[in-house]
Amino acid sequence: MTARILVVDDVPANLRLLEARLLAEYYDVVTARSGPDAIEICEASKIDVVLLDVMMPGMDGFEVCRRLKADPATTHVPVIMITALDQPADRVRGLEAGADDFLTKPVNDLQLLTRVKSLTRLKALTDELRLRAATTRNIGIEQLLQKKSGDSEETPAVLLIDEDEASGRQLQRMLHDHFRLDMAEDPQQGLIRAAEKPYECIIVSSTFAHYDPLRLCSQLRAMDRTRLVPIVLLAGEGDEATVIRGLELAVNDYVLRPVERQELIARLRTQIRRKRYNDSLRSSVAQTVEMAVTDPLTGLHNRRYLDSHLQSLFDRAVARRRPLSVMIIDLDRFKSINDTYGHDGGDVVLREAAARLRRNLRGIDLVCRFGGEEFVVVMPETELEVAERVGERIRLQIAGDSFAVGKADETVTVTVSIGIAALHQPQDTIEALMKRADMALYEAKTAGRNRVVAPAA
Ligand code: GH3
Ligand code: MG
Ligand code: MG
Repeated sequence: MTARILVVDDVPANLRLLEARLLAEYYDVVTARSGPDAIEICEASKIDVVLLDVMMPGMDGFEVCRRLKADPATTHVPVIMITALDQPADRVRGLEAGADDFLTKPVNDLQLLTRVKSLTRLKALTDELRLRAATTRNIGIEQLLQKKSGDSEETPAVLLIDEDEASGRQLQRMLHDHFRLDMAEDPQQGLIRAAEKPYECIIVSSTFAHYDPLRLCSQLRAMDRTRLVPIVLLAGEGDEATVIRGLELAVNDYVLRPVERQELIARLRTQIRRKRYNDSLRSSVAQTVEMAVTDPLTGLHNRRYLDSHLQSLFDRAVARRRPLSVMIIDLDRFKSINDTYGHDGGDVVLREAAARLRRNLRGIDLVCRFGGEEFVVVMPETELEVAERVGERIRLQIAGDSFAVGKADETVTVTVSIGIAALHQPQDTIEALMKRADMALYEAKTAGRNRVVAPAA
């Protein structure tokens, strides 16, 4: 899908110029002639990158950028500031307003396109994460992120890989107040360092005597530990080709020597802010997925998880002609525990029963809370007779030691009934298997409870 770029400039000729260049690269282009219009467009439609003129009457570019970045709905949209003034101070102001990058007029074609390309790529990643986070959790994702992302207080750890010791020391002095800077004096050592510790950004010098800096960058991209860590290239004047190639490959940003202190600090901050934002999206997705398949009361898997995994365990057993057993465990007369000790007392019992189950099963057994006071265990590689012995052990573990309930050292004796069924090769179905286990459970209940039933037929 092509990215949609919003170009903001008060001068129509400038708009047309940028629009033509972007259209030639098949981008979808939208234009705005003032700050307020730009904000409205960003809020109302999906924009992938904003190219923002700094000097505009009324609301200037810095203010537009600040507002976009302050609004949770648009904070993730990359902004490239464009100014006629090639002033480091302006560049820094832009970056501090939250801009992701900076271009100066007249805009160099190659720079424009490489920047837009690298930012749209990052945006696509963020979008995917946001989508997954939003679809997996139906609460306001923006609120969730606002709490976590922000500029976290922790001083970021940054790794500098640079052979030039004097330059390294100089950078260390520059960055000292804002980052914890570690140094590696050669590319090999750099890779090792980077793998040892969770850095939030890596600065790679482009001037190694015997090593291609871009090779180092792609090695960093390939390693698990550093795959998602932003890389900033520290390039010499005249290294433009390397920079452009780097941005196409894996590099997130670059700074030219001689290094402007404020600019470097602002660029590192931008990269780290973006990384933290994506990290929090990623962990929220992981957390949500985890939550979706976990029973909050007992920490066991829930029925949804069982439904999605039983089929594959079943298919594997059938395909390999291996045994598989299923056990349904139901607490006896649980309603009366609730009635006597209250719902909270009942919950305590459920939690403890789950803990005892977990302790008495193997890692490959799939244990879940099927609902209420009913648990299901799927046991791969397990014959009926073995499953029956496991069931008996569980029954004794539950009935043998009374359960604590409520406060005052109160305890209650809990028993379970267990129904077991084993896979019949080769014609069995999951439904039939579960049905047999359920009938066995029913038999255990009617025969007086606190027992295991595992019919061979
Ligand atoms: P039986 O021996 O026949 O299984 O009797 P029982 O009372 O255990 O069975 P029944 O299915 O009639 O009752 C189950 C009870 O479990 C009813 C319900 O209120 C309670 N229950 C279900 N989920 C929870 C829960 O999460 N916490 C608590 N405390 N109670 C629950
Ligand atoms: Mg029960
Ligand atoms: Mg029940």
